[in-house]
Amino acid sequence: MSTLLADASIRLEKALKYVSISEDAIARLKHPKTSLSVSIPVRMDDGSLRIFQGYRVRYDDTRGPGKGGVRYHPNVNIDEVQSLAFWMTFKCALLDLPFGGAKGGITLNPKELSKQELERLSRGYIDAIADFIGPDVDILAPDVYTNDMIMGWMMDQYNIIQRKICPAVVTGKPLTMGGSKGRDTATGTGAFYVIHSMLSKFAQKPENTTIAVQGFGNAGSVVAELLFKAGYKVVAVSDSMGGIYTEKGLDIPSLKRHKEENKDIKTLYCQDSLCDMVEYQSLSNAELLNLNVDVLIPAALENQITSINAANIQAKYIFEVANGPITSEADAILEQKGIYVFPDILVNAGGVTVSYFEWVQNRSGLYWRLTEVNERLKERMVTEAEKVWIIAREFDTSLRTAAYIHAIERLGEALDAKGTRD
Ligand code: GLU
Repeated sequence: MSTLLADASIRLEKALKYVSISEDAIARLKHPKTSLSVSIPVRMDDGSLRIFQGYRVRYDDTRGPGKGGVRYHPNVNIDEVQSLAFWMTFKCALLDLPFGGAKGGITLNPKELSKQELERLSRGYIDAIADFIGPDVDILAPDVYTNDMIMGWMMDQYNIIQRKICPAVVTGKPLTMGGSKGRDTATGTGAFYVIHSMLSKFAQKPENTTIAVQGFGNAGSVVAELLFKAGYKVVAVSDSMGGIYTEKGLDIPSLKRHKEENKDIKTLYCQDSLCDMVEYQSLSNAELLNLNVDVLIPAALENQITSINAANIQAKYIFEVANGPITSEADAILEQKGIYVFPDILVNAGGVTVSYFEWVQNRSGLYWRLTEVNERLKERMVTEAEKVWIIAREFDTSLRTAAYIHAIERLGEALDAKGTRD
């Protein structure tokens, strides 16, 4: 088995000790159901033809159609996509969404393509996987370096192929194309609800809580801003180029505005007049992880905290907003140090939860107000976080293992109810 997926499966193994599901169900959960690999020919602006490598993996669809985002990144490979589809399976079960888990990706650096090239690539991807997806089969969504504009192109291309309007094949679309209010901020907002409710268990008051956020993209910037507004001291943030730190706490809304102008975090703060008002210090992504803060929020990519740097982590609580930022080896080290790790499949599940709301709205044709979306999101996130907390105490396990126990029980029930044909 490949490395990232093998590592992800270790978490499954740990949790299996605590659940009573059938051997058949266990065997099924250990393998991705279908993995599709496609070549996507794209006519570039200079007239040349470039072939891109794309993937779509449906890990499991016992609880409902496959669900998961599409990632555009130079490191995308089949192992990564399978692992991300694995996490989606458990994430959807944990939040009790009627979906299985899937994921897609294209290996490329999207920053190197023009908007027109990106559109041709996105449409070409749908041409290649159209027979493999659908509102009742497998539903796409944004992930790293994909956004609502790309989802709009994908939905439109699918409509062209089907010769009808099928909004529910993709979530995270522009509002004008059937998107849901609150989907763009859902991952960060859902994470905020979990963080705020779980920290209250430790009597951790916002004004006395220092936080470092690695990653200032769609998820990281939203969670940082909500924490800032709730009175927490966000002392460090970073993007792929590096980050900044100030003991006094950063002004997150102003950082967000600068980032929206396409500037790096490291440079933008010193260009701003705010530079004179606070003492700040630039730091690398690796340094940010080691800061002496109460809460650490990895909100970038996988494999950030490994057996190499886990011993240096000083935070008391880690909330995984990224998918898979901690390796299983690092898990053991962090546990030994008494650090509470709130796992990705819980903390970042707000995105897919509002994707589910979008899919429901598309199918019913009735669209909800933002307050309605956020109320429902909060209710689900806080309820499932509470269940994970209780399971962890009951079985005396890590929060990650508790989250897997909870998800596996739901998945196991569904797998057993379905039975086998073999
Ligand atoms: N890409 C997001 C995730 O990893 C959202 C997936 C979705 O909305 O389907 O959870």
